[in-house]
Amino acid sequence: MSIQTNIQEVRQRIAAACGECGRDPKEITLVGASKMNDAAACREAIAAGIDVLGENRVQEMTEKLSQNAYDGAPLHFIGHLQRNKVKQVVGKVALIQSVGSLPLLEAVEKEAEKQDIVQDILLEVNIGGEEAKSGFAPAQLEDAARAAQAMSHVRVRGLMTIPPADSDRDTNIRYFQEVRALYVDINEKLFHNELKCLSMGMSGDFEDAIRNGATMVRVGTAIFGARYYPT
Ligand SMILES: *Cc1c(COP(=O)(O)O)cnc(C)c1O
Repeated sequence: MSIQTNIQEVRQRIAAACGECGRDPKEITLVGASKMNDAAACREAIAAGIDVLGENRVQEMTEKLSQNAYDGAPLHFIGHLQRNKVKQVVGKVALIQSVGSLPLLEAVEKEAEKQDIVQDILLEVNIGGEEAKSGFAPAQLEDAARAAQAMSHVRVRGLMTIPPADSDRDTNIRYFQEVRALYVDINEKLFHNELKCLSMGMSGDFEDAIRNGATMVRVGTAIFGARYYPT
C-alpha cells in the first residue's frame, strides 16, 4: 500500500460513484485529510496529484507549513477553529471549511481585515444537532450567510458538514440530502447560484456523499492509512 496507489483507488471510486449518478468526476475536489501524517506523507500525496490538503489542528499545520509540507497544493483548514487561533489560519489557507458560529465568523472577518485580504470560507452545518459539535443549525444558516455577506473580508464559497459519526447509513444519507437541500436553497436565494462548494463525505461515506451532491470530499484514512493516536 502506498499513498499514490490509495489516491488512485479513491479516484476510481469517485469516478464510479459519479458514473452511477451521471456526474463528471472533474466536478469533485479530493481533499486529503492529512492530520497526524508528516510532511513527507503530505508531499507524497501532492506528488500523486491530490487536489488539496486539509488540516485539523492549528499547531500541527503551523509546524508542517514551516517544513513546506504543502508546497504545490492548496491548503484548507477543516477542523474546529478556536477564535484565539484565527491569526494562525487566516491568510495561511485557501479556504477555511469550518466556520460554524457567528463569533468565529466575526473573528475571521476581523483578522482578514487586519491583513487586508478576503478570506474564502465555508459555513459549517451541524446537521445532526449534536451538542458537542460546532456548526450552524439549519435554522440559523440563512442568517449566518447574510451576516457573512455583509462583511467585506470573508467570502462564502459553500457549505461543509460532518454528520454524526454513529449514524447508520440511511440516516447518514438523509443528512447529506438535507445539507444539499440547504445548499441549493441558499445558493439560489442569496448567492445567485454562484456557490460551487458542498464539502461532505469522508473515507467511510464519500460515495454516498457524491451520489447526494457533494462537490468536495475530505478523505484521510483511505489515503494515508489508519491514524495511530498515542495513548
Ligand atoms: C479526519 C477528517 C476527515 C477524514 O476522515 P477519514 O474518515 O479518515 O477519511 C474529514 N473531515 C474532517 C473534518 C476530518 O477531521
